[in-house]
Order: sequence, then C-alpha cells, then structure tokens
Amino acid sequence: MQSIGLYVHIPFCVRKCAYCDFNSYAGLEPLFAPYVRALAGEMRSRLADQGPLHVRTLYVGGGTPTALPLSLLGDVLSACHANFDVAASAEVTVEANPGTVDEGYLAGLLAAGVSRLSLGVQSFDDGELQLLGRLHDAGQARQAYRQARAAGFHNVNLDLIFGLPGQTVARWRATLQQALALGPEHLSLYALTLEEHTPLAGRIARGELPAPDDDLAAEMYELAEAELARAGYVHYEISNWARPGFECRHNLIYWRNQPYLGLGAGAHSWFAGRRWANVCLPRIYVEEMARGHLPVAESEEISPALEMAETAILGLRLVEEGVDLGAFRARFGAEFTDVYGREVEELVDLGLLEASTGRVRLTRRGRLLGNQVFQRFLPGKPNVRTSHREIRMSRATRTTQHATRSGKT
Ligand code: SF4
Repeated sequence: MQSIGLYVHIPFCVRKCAYCDFNSYAGLEPLFAPYVRALAGEMRSRLADQGPLHVRTLYVGGGTPTALPLSLLGDVLSACHANFDVAASAEVTVEANPGTVDEGYLAGLLAAGVSRLSLGVQSFDDGELQLLGRLHDAGQARQAYRQARAAGFHNVNLDLIFGLPGQTVARWRATLQQALALGPEHLSLYALTLEEHTPLAGRIARGELPAPDDDLAAEMYELAEAELARAGYVHYEISNWARPGFECRHNLIYWRNQPYLGLGAGAHSWFAGRRWANVCLPRIYVEEMARGHLPVAESEEISPALEMAETAILGLRLVEEGVDLGAFRARFGAEFTDVYGREVEELVDLGLLEASTGRVRLTRRGRLLGNQVFQRFLPGKPNVRTSHREIRMSRATRTTQHATRSGKT
C-alpha cells in the first residue's frame, strides 16, 4: 500500500485578515455542513480511484479549521479514518486561530486523535495584530496556548510573521521573546508577503503605511536565527525551527517531494507523477461533489526534468539535510552533479551553496537569497542577482507554493 501525507483544506474563516490572499472565506457558515459532507465524498472517490492508501501524516489546514463547530471537525477526522489507513503513529495536525478555541474545544480535538496543534499567533504586539486585522489579541493567543497545554497537547507550533510595515527590530525581538517564554515545540516564522488586492497592500499603495523593508526583514530573520539557536531550537527548514524530534513530519513530506493528497477546495495533490489542484470556491466544490464529479480545476503531468528541479528546490529549503545526493541518485538514476553541475558550481562560487559529502545545502547567505537560488534550478534559469539581501522567500516559486505556506490561520 502506498504511503502518503494527507492534507485537508477547510476554507472558512470568521473574518478575513488584512494581508491574506489564501483560499479562505468569511460568512459561509451555511456551507459548513455541506462542505464537510462533500469532503467525505471526495475521500470516498479517492479511495475508489487510487485504492487503499497508508497515511503517515494528516494535516487539517485552512482557512481556519477551528472555525468549524467541533462536531463537524470531528466528522472530518472520522471520515479520514474511515477512508484511509491512518497509521496509529501518524502525526495529526490541526491549525487553529487563537480567537476560535477554548479548553473544551481543544480537549475535543485531542480526544479525536489530533496530536499536534498549530496556533496562528503572528505577533504578540496588539498594535501589529490590529494592523494585520487578526481576530485575537496577544492575551488571547497566550490564553489559547495555555489552554492547549491544559487540554494535554504536547506538540504545539506557533506561527509568527515578521517584516511588517513599520515594525521595528525591538518589537520583533519582544514577540520572539514572548513566544520563547511559552516554550512551544515548534516555531514557523515567515516574512510578510504583500499580496496584491489585499487591504494591507492597498493601504501601503495609498501611502498610509510604509512599505516593508527587505533589509530590515533580513535583520529580523538573522536575529531569530540567533535567538532560537540560543534557546535550543534546531533550524531545520528556512522558515521552521523545532525542538529536536518535533520537526513537522507532514511538511517534511512536501520538502522531500514525496507524494501527498490534498482534499477540499483549492487543495493541491502530488501523486503518481501528476499534480492537480481542486476548484477554489467552496460553493463550486460542494456542487461538483453533489453531481458526482471530482472537483479538479487543473492537472498536469510532471516530467522527470521538472520533478528533479522541484526535488532540488524543495530539498534546498532543508537547512542541514539539503539535497541528499544518494537519495537523488536512487530516485532518478542520475547524479545530481551531472544534472546541475554548472548551477552548483556557480552558486558555490557565489557563496550561496555548499557541497559537502553526500549533500548540497544553502549557505547562511544562500538562505537569505533563497528565491534567487531556487530560480536557477528551473527551466529558463535566470542569472542570480546578489546585490541586495532578501528573505521574502516563503513563496519561493509557483511550483513550491503548495509546500511553503506563510503566516496564516
Ligand atoms: S490569515 Fe488565516 S485566519 Fe486570517 S483570513 Fe487568512 S486563513 Fe483566515
């Protein structure tokens, strides 16, 4: 039986944050129950199409999964267990917005088999949270964290965003220190990406707020690297830190370019040499499933050349692991250095890559210029510009967007 990671998308939010362009919608409460029924339908169709699949990791993300009543989120988890062979040891993550949970809800998640909670905190500064249009303040974020511990969660991630308009290094340091004082097992830190047509981008375009400063964001990233190393966290992926043994196993499946199924509106899948994406609008998704159609919006066969490039780009996100040359050879029957010899040589000369026994990794400087390194492995291969520092790589390339989610829920 083939092993996969399973992602389930819940596209609902209580309200839309000012910076968010994720596939999430507020005000769709009437669709909650039909959507959960449609998800169960998609699971049954996948079982019929692909046969039994062994699920190593399950990740329920959004949107805000915890915008659903607990009973409906429980139905989603039950449907996963009914239609897939979910390993007893599977990592089961649910994303939660601190403004949507209490201790009873969190205890219910734990009782339903959720083993990892990812809290979208984003900042411990109330002014910044207001700027971002978040549903919660810093006090509620701290309270949600304590409630998760009281409920019995032993594996908690906090998402934080840096590089906000007007944010100072001192304020970012204060947010980091408050996160560290709580002692989560895992931290995901993302540079704000300004998305077109969001209220925040509009305010910046109108001159009401300063534009984010790339150099300052790079300084904040370096500060985080130092503070988190001092606190004993392992920097295992460009944007992710963990206590040893608490690396996110689900996201490691993405970064190792291993197969996963994504279910729900707008979810992406990579399975059996194909990548596909479901329709984004929840209403259309529900209607398609009601008609008995699989709600696929686009699908492409991935050529071996593209699969190699994506394996390189995703692998380079892993700080220590990098691209494992032996695993690359076993997977593609080709030497990494034969396929990308010129690129590796150039990037090593520029101080952006390092090649050691059996692995190729980004250097410290390469991590700040990740986007430009990644582009070098794609068809078309633009030249690398190294004239300025840049850490806005959480959305490295279109091909890696599905595996690099930033500052949400
Ligand atoms: S950032 Fe998260 S909570 Fe806010 S609208 Fe986007 S998905 Fe919803």
